[in-house]
Amino acid sequence: MKILVANCGSSSLKYQLFDFSRGEERRVAKGAVEKIGVAGGGARDHRAAASLAFEELRNSGLIQSAEEIDGVGHRVVHGGERFTSSTRIDEAVLREIEACCELAPLHNPPNLAGYRAMKELVPQAAHVAVFDTAFHTSLPAHAYVYGLPYEYFERDRIRRYGFHGTSHRYVAQRVAALEPAARRIVSCHLGNGCSICAIEDGRSVDVSIGFTPLEGLLMGTRSGDLDPSIIFHLIKTQGLDPVRIEKMLNHESGLLGISGVSNDMRDIVLAAAAGNARAELAIEIFCYRARKYIGAYLAALNGADAIVFTAGIGENSPDVRARICKDLENLGVHLDTESNTRARGECRINVPGMPVSMWLIPTNEELLIARDTQRCILTG
Ligand code: AMP
Repeated sequence: MKILVANCGSSSLKYQLFDFSRGEERRVAKGAVEKIGVAGGGARDHRAAASLAFEELRNSGLIQSAEEIDGVGHRVVHGGERFTSSTRIDEAVLREIEACCELAPLHNPPNLAGYRAMKELVPQAAHVAVFDTAFHTSLPAHAYVYGLPYEYFERDRIRRYGFHGTSHRYVAQRVAALEPAARRIVSCHLGNGCSICAIEDGRSVDVSIGFTPLEGLLMGTRSGDLDPSIIFHLIKTQGLDPVRIEKMLNHESGLLGISGVSNDMRDIVLAAAAGNARAELAIEIFCYRARKYIGAYLAALNGADAIVFTAGIGENSPDVRARICKDLENLGVHLDTESNTRARGECRINVPGMPVSMWLIPTNEELLIARDTQRCILTG
C-alpha cells in the first residue's frame, strides 16, 4: 500500500511517501515545495505545488503515475470538538473542516487548499484528515474551559483545543512501547512551535497551548502566556489595532522578540555564547517557562513516570534540556549529564534508578498520519 502524507502551510507543501507493503513501514521519499504564491517562488498555488511534488516523485522513479497512490493523509490543524480521531474526507467532513476555519484562520485554509489540490490529482485514493487537535479531545472540562462568562464557551466554543496532538500521541505510543509501566507522561514538544502535554493512560489530560497556538510556552515568534490586560493597555496608550497586536504576538514575539536576533534557537545559542545578553535572557525565559509547565503537570498528574523531549529544540539541544531540568531533583527529576550530552535518536537520559524516567524521542508525525490513513482505508 502506498501512502502519501501532505502537510500544507500557507506557503509550503511538505510531503512524504510511505510504502506499507509486506507488513513493513518504509518511508521512500520526502520533499517540499516552498514559497508557494511568492513572486519568483516554486509554485503559483497549492495545485501547482502538488503537481510539482508528483513530478518529483515520478522523476525519482518511485511512482510511475499518481494512480498508484492508495491513500493521502492530510495534516489538518483544527478539527474543533467534532473530530476526535482521524477521518476519511467526504463532502460532509469537508464542510465540517471548513467550519473550523474560523477557529484557525491561518492554518485550516491552506490545509484545505492542499486537500483540494491532491484530490484533483489523485481522485481515486482515499483522502484522510489527521487533526492536530484530536488527541486533546480527551481533556476534562476543568482543563479546557477558560475563566470567562460561561456563555462564551457554550455559545462561541471559546475553549482550550490544544495543538501538536499528533506529535504528543506519537510520543505516548513510543513510551508505551519502550516503558509500558509508564502511565503518567509529560511530553515536551519544543520546536518552532512549543507545547507541553500531560498524558495519563495514553490520553491527553492537559496541554499548554490553547484556543489558538499562541498560549503557553515561549515559542520562536509567539509570546505564549501573558496578561491579557497588556493588550488593552497597548490599545489605549498606543492606539494599536487588533490586527497589529495579533501580528506582534504571533510573529514578532517569543525568542525573536526578546533576543532581537532570530526565532531560531541555534542562532540565539550562538549569539548568547558571543556575549549577547538579550539572547541569553531569551534562552533563560524559554527554559524557565518550560520548567514551570513541567512542574504544573507533575502536579496535575500527581507525579510523572516519564518526561519526554521532542521536536527541533527538544531533540537537538542538550543544553536547553539541561537548563530546563536544572534543580528539579526534589521532584524526582534527575537528568543524566553524560547520556543527555551524548543523546542521539530515541534514548533514555535520566540517572538510572531515579523515580522519573526521561526520554529523548524524535517525533514522527508523518508516520502516524500514514498509519492513520492506512487504518481508515482498511476499516472502510
Ligand atoms: P521544529 O519546529 O521542530 O522543526 O524545530 C525548529 C527549532 O529547532 C528551531 O528553533 C531550531 O533552531 C531548533 N533546533 C534545531 N537543531 C537545533 C540544535 N542543534 N540546537 C538547538 N536548537 C536546534
